[in-house]
Amino acid sequence: MSYNVSPVGYVRSCFKEKFAIPRQPHLAPAARGVLELVPPFDQGEAVAGLEQVSHVWLLFLFHQALEDKPRLKVRPPRLGGNTSMGVFATRATHRPNGIGQSVVRLEKVEAGRLWLSGIDLLDGTPVLDIKPYVPYADSVAAAVNQMASAPPEAIAVAWADTALPQAHEHALRLGEPLVELIEQCLAQDPRPAYQVPPAERVYGVKFWDVQVRWHYPQPDRIRVLEVVQDL
Ligand code: SAM
Repeated sequence: MSYNVSPVGYVRSCFKEKFAIPRQPHLAPAARGVLELVPPFDQGEAVAGLEQVSHVWLLFLFHQALEDKPRLKVRPPRLGGNTSMGVFATRATHRPNGIGQSVVRLEKVEAGRLWLSGIDLLDGTPVLDIKPYVPYADSVAAAVNQMASAPPEAIAVAWADTALPQAHEHALRLGEPLVELIEQCLAQDPRPAYQVPPAERVYGVKFWDVQVRWHYPQPDRIRVLEVVQDL
């Protein structure tokens, strides 16, 4: 038996590619986006009352990781990409029905639009449902997860002399906390866990409409080299 689901909206996100998106929400509070609701949910009635809520659950489709053949085991990047685990033991993007879930901060509510922060969602992500976070039921103080007992360790992020003013300039133009976004996302160390890059290797990613480039002068240090508009 199969069921059809249709998105209630799509996320317009700071993240334009999968690389360097944090592995879970909240790791980059400066990661912002807007959930644009589609008819009939774009009417004020559908979000009435939501202004009383600080966080929402989003159920969404990993639309850029959909697969025809279900996997029983996956190798989560969190475990270094070498250990394979049962698909239901992980939050990997390769899932039987391609469904993801994230608790994100609800900054502002408008008819047809929810302003979000702390997101871990790619631009264009189709959202299947939205539910208010209920602290007494959703926060489990005694919960244990031995595979993910603490947030990933952050690494140091420094700036080349010219890169920080570039980031400030684009932050002003965009009206977004771009410097914080870059620092928070790169501190998660986006490179695959098994990769020890030579210092001359330059990595890049697009946040909003800017291309951010960095390298690893030492294996546990990032230096942002430039932040340039990518039109
Ligand atoms: N918090 C969600 C969950 O637990 O279901 C997502 C966790 S998943 C490990 C997070 C990763 O999903 C991000 O680092 C990003 O690379 C990827 N991602 C985000 N949105 C996506 C999308 N629409 N399609 C494919 N991958 C996506």
